[in-house]
Amino acid sequence: MTRPEEGPTGPIGPIDATRTPRYGGAATFARLPRTDQVTDVDVAVVGVPFDTGVSYRPGARFGPAHVRESSRLLRPYNPAQDVEPFALQQVADAGDIDCNPFDIGEAVRAVERGADALTGAGARLLTIGGDHTIALPLLRSVHRRHGPVAVVHFDAHLDTWDTYFGAAYTHGTPFRRASEEGLIDREASMHVGIRGPLYSRRDLTDDTELGFAAVTCPEVESDGLAGAIERIRARVGDRPVYVSVDIDVLDPAHAPGTGTPEAGGLTSRELLAMLRAFGDLDLVSADIVEVAPAYDHAQLTGIAAAHVAYELLSAMARRP
Ligand code: MN
Ligand code: MN
Repeated sequence: MTRPEEGPTGPIGPIDATRTPRYGGAATFARLPRTDQVTDVDVAVVGVPFDTGVSYRPGARFGPAHVRESSRLLRPYNPAQDVEPFALQQVADAGDIDCNPFDIGEAVRAVERGADALTGAGARLLTIGGDHTIALPLLRSVHRRHGPVAVVHFDAHLDTWDTYFGAAYTHGTPFRRASEEGLIDREASMHVGIRGPLYSRRDLTDDTELGFAAVTCPEVESDGLAGAIERIRARVGDRPVYVSVDIDVLDPAHAPGTGTPEAGGLTSRELLAMLRAFGDLDLVSADIVEVAPAYDHAQLTGIAAAHVAYELLSAMARRP
């Protein structure tokens, strides 16, 4: 197998696809080198194969492997953002964080420790889940370095519920816990793509009190993409931003492979267009969660998630 493409001085890029076919070899994200094959890492892509926090369909523990497998066709130049994300920064695959599948508390602590270890030398993280529970320990780690951050949370769901079956740490509660712990900037955080039935109107008033504004899917429909992007930028300003993408923000037609699908979501084209506008934001780290390959077809969800990751990496490259 061919080694990753080595520049004379710059970052080491993906394996040369003109010599080793894209479908061959072990899958790292975008066929990039592993973190142990490079010296300085600017962005680490790390998997969290954990789904013990789900409330409906399980299976997101297989998300990291599926997204890596679905990322083989990503190429070095991104014309939509006019940037070479793997040439301007060293991006490398850090493998997976080991998580206890039977003990959510222990898994949450492991994710926080794993994130701290990877960002200790200053790298940014792009995490592939795993269910949305993992956003809480990831935000704890981010907070330790950056203080309260503006969270831009793409999701069909608010994920600011209090408990399920008495459990405080689940995939429906990470942003309530994060707000309670002071991890997020309550003046600057927002949800994008919210839709579908709630338990009651109280869900929305609670959510506002926890510090979130929202661009709902019906508002994307009425105000258009430009309106949605403008509202996100106005809300976060020049603060440090953490982006969390629950793949169920996409319509089930675009991302069937997920645990709690809701009709009437964004198209993958709409989501990618929004992320392409993030190049001038101060992106500190990001995650993509809730990819559950057992319900996927023809890698639709995996490919969408891989391209979401690619646009986020490109946006990070534009503002090192
Ligand atoms: Mn969701
Ligand atoms: Mn979610």
